[in-house]
Amino acid sequence: MTRKQPDSTTDANAELHMARRGLLYIISSPSGAGKTTLARRLLAADRNIAMSVSVTTRPARPGERDGVDYRFVDADGFESMKERGELLEWARVFDNHYGTPRAPVEAAILAGKDVLFDIDWQGAQQLSEKMPGDVVRVFVLPPSGPVLEERLRVRAQDSPETVARRMAAASSEISHWPEYDYVIVNSDLETSVNSALAILTAERLKRARLLGLSAFVRDMRAVL
Ligand code: 5GP
Repeated sequence: MTRKQPDSTTDANAELHMARRGLLYIISSPSGAGKTTLARRLLAADRNIAMSVSVTTRPARPGERDGVDYRFVDADGFESMKERGELLEWARVFDNHYGTPRAPVEAAILAGKDVLFDIDWQGAQQLSEKMPGDVVRVFVLPPSGPVLEERLRVRAQDSPETVARRMAAASSEISHWPEYDYVIVNSDLETSVNSALAILTAERLKRARLLGLSAFVRDMRAVL
């Protein structure tokens, strides 16, 4: 007999089959702060949250898969998606365009499923304006400036100018930290994963998201 692996998070009300509105879990950070690893761990630990796959005009990097990491489109394709209203938010980051397809997000929320976003501060701002009650915004900070610089240097493996440009971009992204609901300083990955999961568990319990709560309590009181 195979035993079902329990999730590291809890969605207590799902076990009661109570209707819930899904939430939009946004993670932003400068590159090099560990956001991608954190997002992967979150997805692996919990079955009720799925990644939003963005569209981008950036060329695929080695190992990236179309439709999995991103949907890779050309500039015209991106523009037509924008014009047809198929993008929930979009932004220019460095020299490329990035956007979130609308349909999968709206379907997930209504089905009580949560969606994870790895998007920048511009995307976080737009989603906050469009769906204020649904967003949960988490900003991931590196433990220190020198640690981030070292990570960018190792990762970039290129000219000091490129590293300097990335550092400037990191500094500008970091300046948006006060626009987020939670901040995780990522000095220890396991601790950060636990914090990210704790946020998910708590946010799922918010009264406003529990669409089935009124009926649940009404039925309970009917027999009292
Ligand atoms: P990369 O090219 O390294 O994958 O991503 C560059 C930046 O674009 C990252 O900060 C990432 O969070 C952001 N990004 C990726 N997809 C989207 C998106 O759909 N919308 C917005 N606003 N930012 C995105």
